[in-house]
Amino acid sequence: MNFIGFQGNERLKESLNSIEKQNRMPHVIIINGGTEESRQELSIHLAMWAVCNSDGEKPCGECKNCINAKAKAHSDVYFAKGEGKTNIYNKDEINRIIRDASIKPNQADTKVYVLSECDRRFPVISQNVFLKTLEEPPQDVLFILTCENSKVLLSTILSRATVFTLESKTEINQELMDIAKEITLGIISKSEIQLLKATYRLSDRESSLEILSYVVLLLRDGLCVSVGAGADTDEDIAYRLSKKLRKTQYLKLIEITEDAQRKITQNVSLKLIGTWLCAEYRRITWQR
Ligand SMILES: [Zn+2]
Repeated sequence: MNFIGFQGNERLKESLNSIEKQNRMPHVIIINGGTEESRQELSIHLAMWAVCNSDGEKPCGECKNCINAKAKAHSDVYFAKGEGKTNIYNKDEINRIIRDASIKPNQADTKVYVLSECDRRFPVISQNVFLKTLEEPPQDVLFILTCENSKVLLSTILSRATVFTLESKTEINQELMDIAKEITLGIISKSEIQLLKATYRLSDRESSLEILSYVVLLLRDGLCVSVGAGADTDEDIAYRLSKKLRKTQYLKLIEITEDAQRKITQNVSLKLIGTWLCAEYRRITWQR
């Protein structure tokens, strides 16, 4: 594989090279870990690789297929957009993709479908629809799924996929992580005071963004444990969350936390965000 303009580390390059040694295209590639940006970069690189028609190393980056795929303008490379504000891949969209995948490619030898950020966009009901195609996958089709943590995908999809893991460079700031833990435990605490006290500690924008990204990590851990997978960040908290929360609640809590991060970057007052977040967390956790 050609790695010009590609940032990944040596181990990742080695494992990517290994898919070329197989005689046929994998049906599903899952890109796991790293940052959203690095996942996107690798998914485009793999899409280019799949459609490139150079005789030399692929992707050549110069043929029409490569150029169009890179510009997201190739008729055989489809980037799923999802529905609604949260870009969910609903059953209809997955069914459309499946129907389309059975039609021969236009310009390239392979059709590529990229479903990005599956952790929050790919509900189980749609994953089940998708799973049916994997039982008898169409020829010359590559599905690329990206996720921050592939453990949230159905194990039946994972077992049929080739998974590439990007390294996360994030070093955890323990002091901020402790605040994130207080907030996360506050979410499931019966007393509102604990959560209010914890969100009151969101005191400057930069550290608040980091704290909330840790809250997302802790919530994802809880979600993993509740579907029978392991926790990466804090097992004890993940276990306590899994006793209290349903799967849909995790997803809503993660969504609200990411909304709060957006608000922080939009210069909304931190006090207001803290109060709003507290109210939203409680609404999601205690609604019946
Ligand atoms: Zn090319």
